[in-house]
Amino acid sequence: MVVRGSLWVNSFWLLAISHFENDVNTAICSTARTTNEHRRTTNDAFMPLDILALAAHRDDVEQTCAGTLLKMAERGYRTGILDLTQGEMGTRGNAEDRAREAAEAARILKVSWRHALDIPDGRVENTWENRLKIARVIREQRPRVLILPYWEGRHPDHYAASVLGYEAAFLAGLAKLDVDQASANQDLLDKDLKGRGFSRAAETAEGPGALAPGILGPHRPFKIIYASLYFDVRPTFVVDITEQFETRMVALMVYKSQFTDQQAGSGIFPAHKEIRARIESMARYYGMLGGVTYAEPFVQKEVGLVDDVMAIPVKSI
Ligand SMILES: [Zn+2]
Repeated sequence: MVVRGSLWVNSFWLLAISHFENDVNTAICSTARTTNEHRRTTNDAFMPLDILALAAHRDDVEQTCAGTLLKMAERGYRTGILDLTQGEMGTRGNAEDRAREAAEAARILKVSWRHALDIPDGRVENTWENRLKIARVIREQRPRVLILPYWEGRHPDHYAASVLGYEAAFLAGLAKLDVDQASANQDLLDKDLKGRGFSRAAETAEGPGALAPGILGPHRPFKIIYASLYFDVRPTFVVDITEQFETRMVALMVYKSQFTDQQAGSGIFPAHKEIRARIESMARYYGMLGGVTYAEPFVQKEVGLVDDVMAIPVKSI
């Protein structure tokens, strides 16, 4: 039985609305930058990320899969967050506010690395240039698991980020693609086109990029899963975040520019106390599906593989 009443729909609305206009931001969070630099400058052994969560806006990850990231970090895995935009289109706050808040949320969630790209807020598009930017990050951080947003939704940035992330992951694994060289060639192509009176619209689908591999060797995540909280779709599986729920709420509420009661955007943002109630309702609903108190939903495209039918969780009857 799937609840599809108005409360449910409103919950999705609420969670999605906060991104409609805000979000943005980031830079590498200071703690993550320190960690990264440390591991590169004082320890030659580069440590790849185990899990990288990618999303359009700074606080999407906090809303859709932060409990899961925290749980994995508590188990000793290296986690990271890649925000595609910096939040310059937000009704509330600005990109600098969002950067500070994202850094604080990253610290609370124990993520090892966080970075925001410079893709325009409200204009996340699946272009060759954007695929290269993300492919570079995937090669650099080398995650085994990539968490993408679900591929349908209300906000175009959200579903665009899903396809963009998938295609970037594919590109990142192409042995003959040198992402740096491809980016440089793209810049040259742009200048050349501009000089001849053309714009980027003349760009070819694949662009010039199939060159010799650079220092960033090819890498493709082993597993891609989709965080589906923003969309009303039945998840393939849920992750029990009962132990992480309160900390994850704290991480979300550090986005004071978005979630404290204020005049700006009061017509589209729910009141602060309502936000907690709705987020808790969502987590409880997915928890109920999995037989636990709180959970986060995910979709995977592949079938599940079972080794021992005696160990399959979630009660049937
Ligand atoms: Zn968003």
